[in-house]
Parts: sequence; C-alpha cells; structure tokens
Amino acid sequence: MNPAYGIETVEVMGVPITCFRSYQHAVECILARIEVNEKTFCLAVGPEKICFATADKSLLHLIRQADMHCCDGVGAALAVRLLRGRTIPRITGVQLFHELLAAAEAEALRVFLLGATPRSSELAYGRLQQRHPNLHLVGRHDGYFDEDEPVIGQVNAAHPDMLFVAMGSPKQEIWIAKHRDAIAAPFCMGVGGTLDVVSGQAKWAPRFVRRTGTEFLYRLLMEPRRWKRYGIVPEFACRVLLEIALPRRSQDEPLS
Ligand code: UDP
Repeated sequence: MNPAYGIETVEVMGVPITCFRSYQHAVECILARIEVNEKTFCLAVGPEKICFATADKSLLHLIRQADMHCCDGVGAALAVRLLRGRTIPRITGVQLFHELLAAAEAEALRVFLLGATPRSSELAYGRLQQRHPNLHLVGRHDGYFDEDEPVIGQVNAAHPDMLFVAMGSPKQEIWIAKHRDAIAAPFCMGVGGTLDVVSGQAKWAPRFVRRTGTEFLYRLLMEPRRWKRYGIVPEFACRVLLEIALPRRSQDEPLS
C-alpha cells in the first residue's frame, strides 16, 4: 500500500505495479494528484520491461523512481496473480492516454504532447483537436531535438497539467526522470508509439488482438525488428514459473 495515496502497489521481480482497479480508478487517482499539484510520473510496465529491468540495474532504478506503474500486459497481470495472489486488470498505456484525454477535456485540464516525428506530431495534434473540440491542447513538440532546455522552456511556458512523452521506451522514461524537477507539469507519462497510431502513421492492433492481450505478437508480426524486445517474453514466463517453483522446492526439500 502506498500510504500517501492509498493505492496498493505490488512488486514483480523488483518492479512495482500499481493495483488500479479499473481505468476509471487510474484516472481518478491521477486527477486527484493533479488537483493538489503533486508531481506524478506514470509509466507502463509490460513483461519485457520487467525482464530488461532485472538485467539492468539502472533501468530498474529508473522504473522505481516513477510514482505510478500501470500494468500494461496480460503477462504482467498474470504474473501479479501467480506471484502476489492479486487479480488486477490490465491498464494499457495507450488506453489510459485516451481515457486521460477524455478526462482532461471534461475537467478543462491542459495537455502538451511531446514526441514522435514532426509529421506524426502535427497530424496527431490535429486529429486530437478534431476528436476533442473542448480539450485544451496547449502545445506540442516532436521528439527529435538536440537540446533539452528550449523544449522544457516551451513545455513550461504552455503550463500543461499533463505532459505525454512519446519517444519510445526507455528513452521517454529516461528523459522524464532526468527532467522531472525542471518540468512544471504535475503529470508526466511516457506513451511510446501512441502518437503514431493517433496520426495514422501506425496501426492500432485489431480489437480481437487487444481483447486477448496479444499485442506483442501482433507488433512482432508487423515489425519483426522488434524481436529483440518481445523475444524476451518467453524468458519472462520461465522466470515467473521459476519464482513459483523455487519457494515450493525449498518447502518440499528442506535444507539438510
Ligand atoms: N521517437 C522520438 N524521438 C526519438 C526516438 C523515437 O520521438 O529520439 C518516437 C518515434 O518517432 C515513435 C516513438 O518514439 O513515434 C517510438 O515508438 P515505438 O512504437 O517504438 O515505442 P514503444 O511504444 O515500442 O516504446
């Protein structure tokens, strides 16, 4: 339990996962923190991120610096159930992004979009303006820049309540963690390739794929170069099984 905010957190291989009950619950928690201007760094945790973090201490440290970790993947939700005995729903980063935009529109919160190519950023911004006519989209910047300070200056000058950073993982998380003190927005979240989907430059997985939580297989088929990232998923499954087996073995076979 996170005593400050009453949101329970569990850990899978040292990686925290926030036990949101639903998208609505996640949105309510985020809005409550924005209301009191509590700086909140949210990231999406999938099986591959957990696996990479176990092999890379600096990545684990970075992930643990975030305040909220949504359970982005059936594999992660299954691991929570098997290892921690908790049943929690999957909260995907992309869906949470859309839920937060709807909430921002309803609550008159200001949103800044950072990341993606200049074309994708512009198209996504335009499409979101059309989709959410009352949303305060207060600025955007593409994700290809050499100097951080001018970009942070542009973000802060727009006074956003929510900053979405779409520069791919873990680049976006590294960027947010490095600059979180300098960024005035209370809420920051990495959203990967979401702006490419919104702009139409990339396709969202079909509904049945999303329903079954097999987006990683779909993305692997669409972009085989991603095998490096998603090829680690079977390893994750083995590690979960090993974690389940090891305590039992130690009970069954007491040390002599
Ligand atoms: N990107 C960026 N700046 C960079 C590298 C990548 O803005 O220096 C953008 C890229 O244009 C794309 C997104 O980050 O829009 C990465 O998308 P991807 O689907 O690879 O991210 P994932 O969701 O897999 O983390």
